[in-house]
Amino acid sequence: MDSDIKTFRDLMIEVQQRNFCGKCGGCFSFCSADNLGALEVGSDGMPRFADEEKCLHCGICYMICPNIHELDEELRKKTNWEPPIGAIKDLTSARTTNSSVAQRCTDGGVVTSLLLYLMDHHLIDGALVSQSDGPFHRSPHLATSGEEIISAAGSHYDESFPLVRLGDHYLTYSPTLYELRKLRTHHISRVAMVGTPCQIHTVRKMQVLGVLPSDVIRYYFGLFCMENFSFNDFQLEALGTKYGFNPAQIAKVNVKEDFFVYLKDGKVIHIPFEDIDLIARPACLVCPDFSAEYSDISFGGLGSPKGYTTVLIRSEKGKWVYREALHAGYIRERRYSLKNDARSESIKAHGKVIGFSQRKRERAERNRAAAVCMAAQSVHG
Ligand SMILES: Cc1cc2nc3c(=O)[nH]c(=O)nc-3n(C[C@H](O)[C@H](O)[C@H](O)COP(=O)(O)OP(=O)(O)OC[C@H]3O[C@@H](n4cnc5c(N)ncnc54)[C@H](O)[C@@H]3O)c2cc1C
Repeated sequence: MDSDIKTFRDLMIEVQQRNFCGKCGGCFSFCSADNLGALEVGSDGMPRFADEEKCLHCGICYMICPNIHELDEELRKKTNWEPPIGAIKDLTSARTTNSSVAQRCTDGGVVTSLLLYLMDHHLIDGALVSQSDGPFHRSPHLATSGEEIISAAGSHYDESFPLVRLGDHYLTYSPTLYELRKLRTHHISRVAMVGTPCQIHTVRKMQVLGVLPSDVIRYYFGLFCMENFSFNDFQLEALGTKYGFNPAQIAKVNVKEDFFVYLKDGKVIHIPFEDIDLIARPACLVCPDFSAEYSDISFGGLGSPKGYTTVLIRSEKGKWVYREALHAGYIRERRYSLKNDARSESIKAHGKVIGFSQRKRERAERNRAAAVCMAAQSVHG
């Protein structure tokens, strides 16, 4: 046994005890996909030892954690990363041409439309998505049909999920990586994954290490992400009181430049990020990646008008899927009256994404340094 290899015990000290663990489940998914059985997930969503004796000290759980940056250099080479926010081949603004997708989607429905293109053309067997199963709540899902992909679109909350149904705890984060461990038993070999930057980061690192089942992920669709939220009834009521809305009247939420709450009567409430940092998950506050830098394509609302998705194409594969879906009529690009407008809008959007990325990276550096300092102080009494 090589004592230099860091294991889950080191993750407990370096990540969990500092409150950096985002509960993405990457470590647990790898360990259980290979039936090693050393790890399990507690009722609080936190990975822990199920049986430490079974730990092979392989160090993989440590290296794939999105909070550990040992493999970042290799990952950057693999994805042709360039400063300041990774590879960029093109930046466009587009929307779906499918009316069912348009009704459900978050922004322009481009994510769902590209997944549909891949599925309809038998280029994937499944898509790792996240279903809305209540207000401020989603569950990971491996969609194997177009209908399932469409039903996982967007962030509309059905009337059938009243707030009370989920108890008093709300979480916008969806632990999509838990589904990874099932991929091998589903006999599915080509999957497109939709995920937040931390999730894409973990699976890409699994690929760098050649760890199963990351080999089945063929397309990485990343979502811009400033932060995810975890809060209770009390905090939701307090936000409602401060911003003058009744939480029971929420129809949809969206995160773009800030946090937007859409009410059933058509009103839109705009809440600045600074006001909701208090209910952000602590792990998000130390995450440095806003634009899902290791994706084939990244998507967000930032930089596009209402009803459109900003599409940041990063790899040749991403460029190919986007172009094919566009030519096949699954999506339509934003139209401009003057040719130069397209270019200037694209430059503006690019600037916004870089600005938000810098803001997130600086916040992460500040919070990480503070947490490490606090941990050191507690060790030295
Ligand atoms: C937690 C979160 C934070 C975000 N923050 C920002 C932000 O700060 N700024 C910004 O511009 N954009 C942000 N986005 C991205 C934005 O909300 C849209 O997802 C994006 O613009 C794509 O829109 P669309 O209409 O093309 O996607 P759709 O066609 O509606 O498809 C969305 C896809 O994302 C999947 N999905 C939804 N929620 C999750 C989740 N929690 N985890 C994993 N997959 C999920 C769905 O299953 C679906 O496949 C965020 C998204 C999420 C999920």
